[in-house]
Amino acid sequence: MPTYDYRCQKCGVFEYTQNITEPALEKCPHCGQEVKRLISRNVNVLYKAGGFHITDYRSKDYKEQAKKEEKSSSDAKAS
Ligand SMILES: [Zn+2]
Repeated sequence: MPTYDYRCQKCGVFEYTQNITEPALEKCPHCGQEVKRLISRNVNVLYKAGGFHITDYRSKDYKEQAKKEEKSSSDAKAS
């Protein structure tokens, strides 16, 4: 489950783990004040850990694959 960062006016920034399907918290679980969700740190970590090289390679590969599929599908249409 991802951990989200929330900012509470009273408690400051805190982490809250919740299911990705759950709606964002509107109230602080500690004091009930209104909270704002901050940009998830997990996303940053994932983004960095994923690495640009792997992403580039994969997207290149994907493009090639898409090209092939596009060609074969247009060939199929033509015939
Ligand atoms: Zn609070």
